[in-house]
Amino acid sequence: SRTPVTVTITGAGGQIGYATMFRIASGAMLGADQPVRLRLLEIPQGMRGAEGAALELADCAFPLLAGVELSDDPGAAFDGANLAMLIGSRPRTAGMERGDLLSANGAIFGPQGRAIGERAADDVRVIVVGNPANTNALIAQQHAPDVPADRFTALTRLDHNRAVGLLAAEAGAPVSDVDGITIWGNHSATQYPDLSDATIAGRAALDVVDADWARGAYIDRVAKRGAEIIEVRGGSSVASAANAAIDHVRDWVLGTGERRTSAAVVSRGEYGVPEGLVSSFPVRSTGGAWEVVEGLAVDAFSRERIGASVAELVSERDAVRELGLL
Ligand code: NDP
Repeated sequence: SRTPVTVTITGAGGQIGYATMFRIASGAMLGADQPVRLRLLEIPQGMRGAEGAALELADCAFPLLAGVELSDDPGAAFDGANLAMLIGSRPRTAGMERGDLLSANGAIFGPQGRAIGERAADDVRVIVVGNPANTNALIAQQHAPDVPADRFTALTRLDHNRAVGLLAAEAGAPVSDVDGITIWGNHSATQYPDLSDATIAGRAALDVVDADWARGAYIDRVAKRGAEIIEVRGGSSVASAANAAIDHVRDWVLGTGERRTSAAVVSRGEYGVPEGLVSSFPVRSTGGAWEVVEGLAVDAFSRERIGASVAELVSERDAVRELGLL
């Protein structure tokens, strides 16, 4: 039988962590023949929640679950980790300045990045879910200089999946017919869901849906979908965020084939995005590595939207630099 893969989940006592771990243990992320060992990291206040989840994991008697360990120490939690899902973060609370938010998260993601660099397995792959996800990923990556930079990513797959779902609904087509959507930039209100190269059953999406809608109401709806969920559901998106994190890791490890998706990866300067920023791009995964899909035509409208989101990433990076967090 295969050697278990060690998956570390931070913020394991929180909602998204809770919605993620049962699906991982069931085989939904790494496949029905791949055993997993879960490591749950929490801060002391979150420990009881994580302990409760661990009891429920035991009660599921998942055949693929080779073990569950809990810790409040990043070094122990990331020891030997093959996959690190950084879900816990310090959310923005009322009256909190951006600097306070970035500092609080620097204090979380700096030490976690260092622990990953020192203790994780050689093949470690990291996905950051906790917001501000792109900049938290940058902080972690900068604290793990010996880990190849392309192993650090942030989640924009939820934005991507929302964009796919909303386009399919508008076109009256099944989601499986949709390909070629890109989320560019930051996982924030400035993100740019781009249909320029999207297809529906092989046909240009912009020939199927109204082009003004695609570059107006659609962009807004995707970017504000999180707020719409909070408004309707009375709480933030949880299952869909967990599902997107699982999609991201599954595609990264097992490959996308020819289909495209979106992920925030460390820029090598593609499409003029400054090198080193963690920005969302059109990607495919082969051989266990993301590759940015290059050579797509970018018109003036797209160039401006991408530029605005990337400018926000630059300002977040400059702010954490000024705070001494990089
Ligand atoms: P959730 O599990 O609901 O969310 C976790 C993080 O994911 C939040 O920062 C949230 O950011 C972010 N997120 C990213 N995308 C989305 C999305 N589309 N929808 C909703 N959230 C999204 O938060 P909880 O408060 O339930 O749990 C967080 C847990 O993390 C707590 O148990 C806490 O103790 C723990 N924690 C652990 C740390 C550690 O392990 N070292 C460090 C810090 C916290 P946003 O709020 O901006 O949407």
